[in-house]
Amino acid sequence: MTQQSLKKQPFAIPSTTPATWLGVMGGGQLGRMFAHAAQSMGFKVAVLEADADCPAGQVADRLLAAPYDDAKALAELGALCAAVTTEFENVSAQSLAALAGQTFVAPAASGVSIAQDRTAEKAFFTECGSRSGVLPAPHLVINAEADIAAIGDDLLPGILKTARMGYDGKGQVRVRTQDEVRAAFKDMQGVTCVLEKMLPLAYEVSVLVARGDDGQAVVYPIAENVHRDGILFTTTVPGPNIKPEAAERAQQAALQIIGAMQYVGVLCIEFFVLQDGELVVNEMAPRPHNSGHYTIDACVASQFEQQARAMARLPLGDARQHSPAVMLNILGDVWYDGETLREPAWEKVLALPGAHLHLYGKAEARRGRKMGHVTFTGATIEDAQRQLAAACAILGITL
Ligand code: ATP
Ligand code: MG
Repeated sequence: MTQQSLKKQPFAIPSTTPATWLGVMGGGQLGRMFAHAAQSMGFKVAVLEADADCPAGQVADRLLAAPYDDAKALAELGALCAAVTTEFENVSAQSLAALAGQTFVAPAASGVSIAQDRTAEKAFFTECGSRSGVLPAPHLVINAEADIAAIGDDLLPGILKTARMGYDGKGQVRVRTQDEVRAAFKDMQGVTCVLEKMLPLAYEVSVLVARGDDGQAVVYPIAENVHRDGILFTTTVPGPNIKPEAAERAQQAALQIIGAMQYVGVLCIEFFVLQDGELVVNEMAPRPHNSGHYTIDACVASQFEQQARAMARLPLGDARQHSPAVMLNILGDVWYDGETLREPAWEKVLALPGAHLHLYGKAEARRGRKMGHVTFTGATIEDAQRQLAAACAILGITL
């Protein structure tokens, strides 16, 4: 039996065998929280990341300090680990494909590459939508300036988004006319973009799904998300605006999408709910997601535990939520008192009932940088929201 086919066997319970290694491409907070979950199940975790003092590197059992495309480091990671995953979506599909020659990679390069490219993602969502009825926003792919003349009034005003490398609202420009599209396209150096019609959003939601190698899938409750300055601000579950029919449709669409990709691992899909109640699929992240952090404290199995289980071909955990929850992202801004840096009053935040504080070990607090999050669980969602309001007052965050 070759080494690779050995790795394809389901794993025994980790604690009864010599520790099994799981690998992560990327050293950010998602990798850190993944490592915590995997280690608590008995796995050892290796992280590939150039910055040695990264959030995931601080807790990893082994840090391979190298760029994500370093052939030697990739080979070392592949040889060490029974499975490898990625904690950020812009890891090159080539790196994942190279790893896949050596070990089990979940999610596979095929799924990650759809999520990396808005044109592929929109085409895929359109295809899935023919069955689920949940479609992406009306849009047009702009490969070259000549494509701009074909933009109809029905797509304007719109948002021009770069096809690749966008995150937290970066790589996006709001446009009202063809001339504005032309100027924005030039500013983006002529890279392939997608022009999307600006839709009248009522609120934004996301659905986390996880799928095992055996095709079994679980779906988490739908989460309601509020963004500020393009960055996730709060996630509330159950969301105050979410109607049961919209929740059911979004969850079914998410299950259909993950199944259609034969995807293994955790996937997060963002949707818009429009003012007329219509559901629109926006984008997906091929990994655990910021809007799923509440699952650590409020669900039977967290999104990170689910990722470890899927990678190790163990049965998936229960996605059921046991407590209503609100998650607040903690940005570097809360360290600033005017221009002076100071430590926020965590002792006051932690005195609030149901507070679960997660800080990511980042040495430097910068404005707009995700430093941590706090989840409030409560007997009711109103309880959790009251504690959120109290925390915002303590931290100087305007609700
Ligand atoms: P992230 O990776 O942080 O989720 P992103 O930069 O990849 O963000 P999107 O999620 O596509 O980009 O868009 C960012 C935000 O812009 C959305 O959360 C939504 O508030 C708004 N937005 C995006 N597309 C539209 C649209 N077609 N109509 C109205 N608002 C939109
Ligand atoms: Mg988004």
